[in-house]
Amino acid sequence: MPPLSNLAVRDIETVLHPYTNLDTHRTIGPIVFERGEGVFLYDSNGKEYIEGLAGLWCTSLGYGNEELVEAAAEQMRRLPFSHMFAGKSHDPGIALAEKLKEIAPCEISKVFFVSSGSEANDTQVKLAWYFNNALGRPNKKKIISRLRGYHGVTVASASLTGLPYNHIDFDLPISNILHTDCPHPYRGMEAGETEEDFATRMADSLDALIQKEGPDTVAAFIAEPVMGAGGVIIPPKTYYEKVKAVLDKYDVLFIDDEVICGFGRLGTMFGAQTMGMQPDTVSVAKALSSAYQPIGAVMVPERMYQAMIDESKKLGTFGHGYTYSGHPVAAAVAVKTLEIYEREDIVGKVNAISPTFQSRLKALGEHPLVGEARGLGMIGALELVADKDTRRAFDPKAGVGAKVTAFAEAEGLIVRALGGDIIALCPPLVISEDEIGELFDRLGRALDKAEAFVS
Ligand code: PLP
Repeated sequence: MPPLSNLAVRDIETVLHPYTNLDTHRTIGPIVFERGEGVFLYDSNGKEYIEGLAGLWCTSLGYGNEELVEAAAEQMRRLPFSHMFAGKSHDPGIALAEKLKEIAPCEISKVFFVSSGSEANDTQVKLAWYFNNALGRPNKKKIISRLRGYHGVTVASASLTGLPYNHIDFDLPISNILHTDCPHPYRGMEAGETEEDFATRMADSLDALIQKEGPDTVAAFIAEPVMGAGGVIIPPKTYYEKVKAVLDKYDVLFIDDEVICGFGRLGTMFGAQTMGMQPDTVSVAKALSSAYQPIGAVMVPERMYQAMIDESKKLGTFGHGYTYSGHPVAAAVAVKTLEIYEREDIVGKVNAISPTFQSRLKALGEHPLVGEARGLGMIGALELVADKDTRRAFDPKAGVGAKVTAFAEAEGLIVRALGGDIIALCPPLVISEDEIGELFDRLGRALDKAEAFVS
């Protein structure tokens, strides 16, 4: 291994890294990025990488978008900060709420601003509780999410997240959060079962959980249209219509977590539209500002808003909000981002390039290390297996996914290894056909090197 640079040594001595093996980081050190342009990143040695995960599933317009930089600079000059507490407001916040209300995937009444996906889903939990208290249903408080769902890392949203490493030794999940089955066809479908049968079994299992807990105790169900960080899992056909029928039967709110799927990723403005979901309320973040500023939002339907008005009458205020709820610079950048999506027809662009992305992805399904290559729109994953026929996974300790990402980095490609040795891909939506080709050429070479390593 080459000696660590001065910057790498300073990093090791000072930075506590999120989602990092803190032990191996002390010897391997960081990749220090210096700048980005389009879909490319450049590290402190000048090495070029294709950003195959759009940062963390978020920089949909890629790097170096001057319009977004200008929108931020202009707002910073005019009004760098103003909050929304106690009825204060500002132009970019109002414009952003109006736009979100116009494009939302369901009937919504009001928009509550946050700074991240975790804050959005934490807010969803609190609003579901608040709503039911306002309606005089103090027992209707449980929230159901799915095993392998990812909804963030704050105390409530990490509890919603259905991944072991977000719970173990953090003393989570908190009470009132339950997990139902993961609708993962590759791992969950039984022999002879059709996708529709599998969807029915998943919906029946949700129904049974609600029955067991008592419908009067269940407030909400939360789902990502396509599960991202849990493994890029695409639920089977008819899943959401069957789930919706169960939720309606028991008057359970349907929370749509669009933090990854929102804003064109699946080939429609929201993932709910591609997947046939009919949610009551929606969380967004990430691509809302193409990640140029930290901002997210919760979209609230009229009946929840009315209940919250009643609470304000009773309590004197709606006691929730962050200093940076609707930060004007973040809001201005988000308004500009949505304007660019519309002007550049980002949804049309995704539909134009995704066939190439998906066919190159699916071709890697033939690779000896790949059990399944799956994807939709501009998101995809390779699930690596030790045995393609039996779908036997690698021993997690072998770190095969991490090996692939390390070889990919050596080839000049950033991808992410998720739990279960799943390699995730989610490039900026502005990627060209040629760049898609280059991305998969690099990934193919990384897989070949990893194969030589494991065999
Ligand atoms: N929801 C989903 C679907 C996500 O993918 C993420 C992050 O990856 C979150 C919520 C949490 O967002 P944040 O990391 O901005 O808190």
